[in-house]
Order: sequence, then structure tokens, then C-alpha cells
Amino acid sequence: MKHFVTADEIRQLAASGERELMLREHTVLTDAAVDAVRLHGIRLVEGSTYSTAEPPPQVVPAPAGAGGLPAPALAGLVRERSSTGVTPSPQVRRAEGSGTVPVTGPPDSGRLLTRLLIGGEWVEAAGGATVPTVDPATNRTIAEVSAAQAEDVDKAVRAARAAFPAWRDLDPEKRARLMLRLAELIESERDYLAQVESHDVGKPIREAALVDLPACWDPWRFFAGAVRTVAGRVLALPRTSLDYVRREPTGVVGMIIPWNFPLHIACRKGSAALAAGNTVVLKAPELAPLTSLELGRLALEAGIPPGVFNVVPGLGEVAGAALVEHPDVNKIAFTGSTTTGRAVMRGGAGTIKRVSLELGGKSPSVVFADADLDRAVIGSVFGIYLAQGEVCSAGSRVLVERPVHDEFVARFAERARRIRVGLPHRWETQLGALINRRQCERVYEYVDIGTSEGATVVTGGSRPEDPALAEGNFIQPTVFAGVRNDMRIAQEEIFGPIVVIIPFDGEEEAIRLANDVRYGLAAGIWTADGARAHRVAHALDAGSIWVNHYGVYPSEAPFGGYKESGTGHDLGLESLDEYTEVKNVHVNIGTETFDWYA
Ligand code: NAD
Repeated sequence: MKHFVTADEIRQLAASGERELMLREHTVLTDAAVDAVRLHGIRLVEGSTYSTAEPPPQVVPAPAGAGGLPAPALAGLVRERSSTGVTPSPQVRRAEGSGTVPVTGPPDSGRLLTRLLIGGEWVEAAGGATVPTVDPATNRTIAEVSAAQAEDVDKAVRAARAAFPAWRDLDPEKRARLMLRLAELIESERDYLAQVESHDVGKPIREAALVDLPACWDPWRFFAGAVRTVAGRVLALPRTSLDYVRREPTGVVGMIIPWNFPLHIACRKGSAALAAGNTVVLKAPELAPLTSLELGRLALEAGIPPGVFNVVPGLGEVAGAALVEHPDVNKIAFTGSTTTGRAVMRGGAGTIKRVSLELGGKSPSVVFADADLDRAVIGSVFGIYLAQGEVCSAGSRVLVERPVHDEFVARFAERARRIRVGLPHRWETQLGALINRRQCERVYEYVDIGTSEGATVVTGGSRPEDPALAEGNFIQPTVFAGVRNDMRIAQEEIFGPIVVIIPFDGEEEAIRLANDVRYGLAAGIWTADGARAHRVAHALDAGSIWVNHYGVYPSEAPFGGYKESGTGHDLGLESLDEYTEVKNVHVNIGTETFDWYA
């Protein structure tokens, strides 16, 4: 009788640390197992002691309809739980009679990962360096996390370089399968991942579970499909020539990400980079590194070979800068502030890095008098207060046509007042804590700046009264009216739950004010006039335009900025261009030789 060894068994073997497979006389490896042997560097040796490993864990089926960030209409919903077969953690509470399971409470701290992931190994940083990650709701340390030094970054880059040829050359179909498996694992652990993200970032757990997590697994599914669409083209040159254009992976990609949506941003960049055949060193944000490490763990569990996806938390000026300047990193994919983006561009110049930058914004939401005012208010409130306003594409400048301005301000403020500010790990909380004390103080400073500029605080601007929030970085949802577009509060990215509302007269002025800012990331348009919606969409200097809603990011749609909001794209098939080099191959298929010197 033949004994068939499967790829899953090889992956299990590799995961258990084994590096050799003893073959019996009748052992047969499937094709996929042979590939897995090559990928994981397992040595095949003749012998008689091989025993099959435990069967691999059951793959969890995905529920239908998982998309990118869901539409604003989601407010108030609880996620339907698919029959994953995964035992809920004790912190998962079943809502009586509803058949839905909101996740609540902080994660089990004993489970948190705190070391660097380099070449499939969990290691301490050089010299044992660590940086604390702090709970924004209490300002107490959650964990001391290893902080990569330049030599750790160098090790991670070497590991990524060593893993690159096998990953690049792996059949696209096999690459896609591993990515799909990773998506399944993220989805199956969504409650735990939502708990960790909420605890580390300070965002409400309902947002982490309902908004962030679907946008974490979905890009892996989208790009798993896209892996098999990467194609070149053949040029129409004279018939004696065969000329074709190839897209090849860039090589080792350094990713540097911010703290506001760390898992989502790591997933949307990582999925595109791996799909295109690159290997990755992810510099996790020092203020919220925990879910990046979880993603590294899940990538390994999915069978993505060691070294393909490395994670190095650490300080920006140390680990980030070392990655940017490393001569063996081919590309930097950066998301963060415009100020740091400039430093990254400069740092990459020494080695002519390919650099893509997803930067800050001061995005307008433009409300015309003919708009459905209820929808415009609901959507604009979502547009600014999601994730405490710590969103690059937040609709932080709302421009409202004068005839409906006062009514809009009143309704907007009324809704803002009703938002429940609270501890992030409670399901009922709608607005959590700002990332740290410094950011919180900065946001309060803008309240003072706006007031001294002559604008009026319609609501908010102060601390919530709840004593349970006294130790954390909280501020009430804040609305400024009486704002001019040249004020600092209308021009600078505040990155907090503060909106400014500005009146305008007519379409022309709306477009002029909307574009009168150095950023160009996103914009919303609210109108019942279809032709006007497109006219204005075409006239706005911004990479993402939302008409009659705000803040949706399907994996299919490219996301990137105009002007000082950056260069390059995440998501969409366009982002594959960011992770590939273009090669042209010209072949002489004629019978004649052209001899210039004849
Ligand atoms: P940040 O620029 O301070 O940090 C971003 C990342 O860069 C962090 O990992 C940090 O450690 C690293 N870094 C800092 N200095 C560095 C250096 N000298 N060299 C290399 N890396 C360095 O931004 P943040 O405070 O973490 O995030 C908030 C900013 O991110 C906001 O401006 C926001 O608009 C922007 N953002 C943009 C997008 C987008 O897609 N456009 C998405 C989310 C956030």
C-alpha cells in the first residue's frame, strides 16, 4: 500500500521545527508536497521511521459578502457570526436571542506576542531593547515590545532576501492558495484580533470587529485572485520582432505603517506585495505594534514560508530609518504623516528606492442644498468620528451650501452630542480614546487655536465627565462653526474628533474651497443632481471621491492621494504596479542580420 504525504503534512512538519523527512519504501509525495518540501527547505532522507503528522486544522469557511470597510449604514449593527467551528473565547458574549455575538473586553494579555519575527523565528531585539505599548484608555503599559535596532532590520532584510527567489518562482496558483488560507485564519481569529486592535489603538471594539477586521481579511482574498491576473503585453512592432513587456516582482519590500489602522494597513499592503511575488519586512508602529505581530504569526500558520513576511516593531527614527536606507531593500511602501513621508523620500534617495507614500489629509465633504440632508448629516458624522477622527481620509472639513447651512449645523451637532464616548473594550462605546497623551493634548490645542481664530465651538471641545475615563485620552466629539477656509483649523490635519463646518455659495465656490488646501486624499459630495455629482467629482483634486456616502474602501478600488497626500496607491489592481518592475524583452525573429558596419 502506498502512503501519500500531502503539502499540509509537510507544512505541519516544518511548523513543528523538523527539517528532515524520513521516507519509507512506499512513501509517495504529492506534487504540492514536493513544492512544500522545496519551500520549507525540508531534506528528504531514506529511512523507515517517518510517521505522519496530526491532520492539519480544519480550514474555516468564509461567510458570504465580506467586503472592504462597510458603508456608514452599518452603524448599530452587530456582526452575524458564521459557523466557523471555532470555540468562542470566554470574553465573547452571546447576545440573548439575537444569534449574534458581539465581542467585548480586553484580550488575554498572556497571549500577546512581543518579539520580532525574523526568518520565521521569534527573537529579541539586539541588546534586549524594548518600547512599551500603552493602553490609550488608561495610559497604562500593555506590554514591553522588542524594539528593532539597525542590526535587527539588517537580519530581517537578509531573511527576506533569502526567501525571495523561492517565493517569486512559486506557481501563482500556490501563492494564491497560501494567501487564501491566511485570509481564512484572520477571519477565524477575528474576535481576538479585534480585541487586540481595540486595546492597543484605543478604538471602540465594535469598530475593530465590524469595520477593521473585514477590511483585513478581504484584501488577501482579492489579491489572491489578482495573483493570477498579473500579466504583461506583446507590442505591435514589425513582424521581424517579438517584443513583450513583463511585470516582475520588485524584490524585498520594506513596509512602514501608522498606528491608526495597523492591521488593516499591514494587510492591504502586504497582500499586494506578496501577490506580486515580493518578500516583506514590516516595520510595525511603535504606538500599536501588537496586531502586526499577530499577522506575522498567522502568515506562518498559513504556510507562508519563513522569511517571506518578517515583522520588526521599533522606533521610526531607528528601525524605520534603517529600513529606508538599507541598500538591499528595493522598495518602501509607507503610510504615515506628510512630515515623515518627506523624511522617507529623502532617506530613500541615497539608494534610489522605489517609494510609495500614503500620507495625511484634510478632506472636504461638500453638501449641496439639494442633497438629502438626513443622509448628508449621517454620512458626514460617520466621515469624521470613525476611529476618533484619527483617519487619514476623515471628512474633517464639511462645506455646506448656505441655504441649508444653519439647519445642517444644528442637526450635525445634535447627532455628535449623542455619540457614546467610552472605554474601547465595551461594545456600546462609539468613540474611544486618542492614541496617546501627546496626541490628545495636540487635539485640545486645536480647540484653543480654533477659538482664538474666531470660530465657535457648537458642541464638544472638552473632556467627557464619566470618571471611568479620567485616566485616558478622551475628548468629546467636537463641532466648529463660523469657520473660514483660511483658518488653521480648516487647513491643518488635526487627527482627532474635530470637524469644521464652512458655508459656501454655489458650485464654483464649493470647488474652489474644497481644493484650497495642500492635501488631496479624499472628498465627499452630497447632491440629488447626478450631472453635478460627476462634474464636481471631476473638478476635485483628490484620489477618492464618494458621492452620497463617505468613507468606503473596497479592496477593488485604488486608494491614494493627490498633492501632499502622497504618491502611489494601496488596494485595487493599480497597487500591483507599485510592487512590480517593468521589463521589456525584444527578440529578433527575422531571418536577416542587420550589419551596420558592412
Ligand atoms: P508617523 O508619520 O508619525 O509614523 C508613521 C510610521 O513611520 C511609524 O511606523 C513610524 O515609526 C515611522 N517613522 C517615523 N519616523 C520615521 C523615519 N524618520 N523614517 C522611517 N520611518 C519613520 O504617522 P502616525 O502618527 O503613525 O500616523 C498618523 C499619520 O498617518 C496621519 O498624518 C495620517 O493622515 C497618516 N495616515 C495616512 C493614511 C493614508 O492611507 N493616506 C492612512 C493612515 C494614516
